[in-house]
Amino acid sequence: MKIIDVRATTVTVPLEAPLRHSNGAHWGRFVRTIVEVEADNGLIGLGEMGGGGESAERAFGHLKEYLVGHDPFQLEALRFKICNPTASLYNNRTQLHAALEFACLDLIGQSLGVPVYDLLGGKLRDEVPFASYLFFRYPNPHTGEGEVRTVDQLVAEAKALKARGQFTSHKLKGGVFPPEYELECYKALAEALPGDTFRYDPNAALSVEQGIRFAQKIADLPNDYLEDPTYGLNGMRRVRSFSPVPLATNTVVVNFEELAANVLDPAVDVILLDTTFWGGIRACVKAAGVCETFQLSTAVHSSGELGIQLATMLHLGAVVPNLTFSADAHYHHLTDDIIEGGPMRYRNGAIRVPDGPGLGVKLDREKLAQYSELYNSLGGYPYDRDPGRPDWFPILPNKSWADPDDDAVPEV
Ligand code: MG
Repeated sequence: MKIIDVRATTVTVPLEAPLRHSNGAHWGRFVRTIVEVEADNGLIGLGEMGGGGESAERAFGHLKEYLVGHDPFQLEALRFKICNPTASLYNNRTQLHAALEFACLDLIGQSLGVPVYDLLGGKLRDEVPFASYLFFRYPNPHTGEGEVRTVDQLVAEAKALKARGQFTSHKLKGGVFPPEYELECYKALAEALPGDTFRYDPNAALSVEQGIRFAQKIADLPNDYLEDPTYGLNGMRRVRSFSPVPLATNTVVVNFEELAANVLDPAVDVILLDTTFWGGIRACVKAAGVCETFQLSTAVHSSGELGIQLATMLHLGAVVPNLTFSADAHYHHLTDDIIEGGPMRYRNGAIRVPDGPGLGVKLDREKLAQYSELYNSLGGYPYDRDPGRPDWFPILPNKSWADPDDDAVPEV
């Protein structure tokens, strides 16, 4: 099998409401780039990458000369062709490589008639459990609905999500409002949903001292872990030395060098594996093997996804033995998807691993065209700007929090 063409299409798919985070917001939609890798036997493998637009489409276009004639089975060769670690000092292509690896695994699976999980050692579970992922949200400016700002709104949203997906674990994305206010929110969630477990992630916005204080104040709650309270391996190590709660990261251990540093001098207990940040599904499986050896816990991380990326997360979650905690997904905030059959569904807090050949998802070409047109009319959005605070920009640790009493509805 040989690759004969590579195509990239940037799409934007609406969210129920703008999602707020420590760096700004997702302004009411996700922008993703869908990659199609075509082989000489007529098969098309699918990949997906966050962000996009002309630059992402062009970046994949530039890689076509590396890829035409390449055998998709040659995955290690692909890794060194696209992201040799020293060449990467000049052209960091980790995320591009991830999308191409997804597509090649999809091609291999389709050509052999087996799901991707069977290429990775076989599945240990039929479905992957997910936490509900709770965000503070601005109201949808068109409907006025979907706001999550007050404690009552957050608890109502958590209960509604639980009713929809039967989640038993809940993640609060924080780093937006003052830490004391978010602590109150987190405690209210734990009180409102007895028997469930919880995790808090302020995207590293707290100082070391604020992180320690937060960790100590939630010690008596049923926590999964505290995720990236502060920035840096050393910062996390300092929080961890005073924290009664395990620490997790998707920020400071995202490659093998950092994983080695964390093994030699532990700063983090739970490694959140992101199929894009790590450069592919196979890198995550390898990292999970290191974690298994050193008794570090793992979970599947979400950096935003449509159905193709979600499929990569499900195949990863299916094969990793030491999957200690439920996965994260932004998926339930989306209003639609670009895969055939529409969005995948949660059942009993889990999503079924696709059993079809390859990744097991197919493109809905009408949806792809619809959301590509929407992208062409709307363009991108600045992930690291807050539409409600146009003059503010984030620093680490953050010193300037949003006001939980401010009910203004920004234009997005
Ligand atoms: Mg995180």
